[in-house]
Amino acid sequence: MKKIEMVDLKGQYDRIQDQVNASVLGAIESTKFINGPQVKSFQEHLEGYLGVKHVIPCANGTDALQIALMALGLKPGDEVITADFTFAATVEVISLLGLTPVLVDIDLETFNIDISAIKKAITPKTKAIIPVHLFGQSALMSEIIAIASENDLYIVEDNAQSIGANYTFPDGSKKKTGTLGHVGTTSFFPSKNLGAYGDGGAIFTDDDELAHTLRGIVNHGMYVRYHHDVVGVNSRLDSIQAVILDIKLDYLDYYNECRKAAAIKYTQRLQDHPKIITPITTGDCDSHVYHQYTLRIIDADRDALVKHLNENNIPCGVYYPIPLHLQKAYRNERYNESDFKVTNQVVNEVVSLPMHTELTDDQIDFISETIKDFLA
Ligand SMILES: *Cc1c(COP(=O)(O)O)cnc(C)c1O
Repeated sequence: MKKIEMVDLKGQYDRIQDQVNASVLGAIESTKFINGPQVKSFQEHLEGYLGVKHVIPCANGTDALQIALMALGLKPGDEVITADFTFAATVEVISLLGLTPVLVDIDLETFNIDISAIKKAITPKTKAIIPVHLFGQSALMSEIIAIASENDLYIVEDNAQSIGANYTFPDGSKKKTGTLGHVGTTSFFPSKNLGAYGDGGAIFTDDDELAHTLRGIVNHGMYVRYHHDVVGVNSRLDSIQAVILDIKLDYLDYYNECRKAAAIKYTQRLQDHPKIITPITTGDCDSHVYHQYTLRIIDADRDALVKHLNENNIPCGVYYPIPLHLQKAYRNERYNESDFKVTNQVVNEVVSLPMHTELTDDQIDFISETIKDFLA
């Protein structure tokens, strides 16, 4: 059996090596390293794939979130609601801009932001909601869109973990996650479902005016060279990353299918165990692209299981071990522990198994058996 990796980037690269190497060399020889035609080409292909009017590439997924919030013209003290259970980048940018993060609990079955908790957290100062499509699974966007329109709030979707996922509306129509709110963001961090060979990110919107603002902000607030109309940042995707992403975009649906196939195999092997809760999907299966395959371990010592897996050369991850509302940087007196029942619970239960495009059946068998043996 091949050595098990949490994410097998080498195995994935091996299969597209010739294409990637030729394109990277081409990008170098073009010497258009910044804002080259390669970036524009990737941007257009991604717009087509997502069915969104504007893609604004930038340097990473954290910048994408920050720039999206900057473009909405929010003022210090404005409140932004997001999930207590996400990567810190989501909340970091809110605080960085002098806005007030309002963390809320999640749903136990999907790990995504809890709809009733959003409703409870809205005040006259609330200006935006950032749903995170966590672990590859779409948040309940119909409900979030309804709440946002009732309360006149912006929706900024953090789609860093879910590129390629579809959200299915109650009427059966579908849309790509990241394109449902006023603005969506993603990350091309190497281990993400569409990963570069370095940093990268992008912002999506259908709104022409917002797109114009975003394009200025990523480039020092310049619309005309050396005329700075707004305070901007320097956040660019480089041409070498763009050619790699352009190649991998062609494989994205296939990559997500590979992840889904692995997820289904894990679930078949693990779902009947009384101490294991396998991830569920809401609606049909394309609402989940399995950035992570995350179990809940109940009535057992999760940390001991992690140690046991590692001793058997099975990497695994605990995403995330501490709820954001308990992190030093994000504590707030307004929070009440009883409002975070689910995050406080799941941080002690979750374990994410190896998940990538190169997992083999014998690896999935071995991982599943090792878990079941331990929990017996
Ligand atoms: C990865 C990630 C980010 C940040 O992306 P970077 O490209 O690493 O800056 C933001 N939000 C979530 C949910 C992520 O998983």
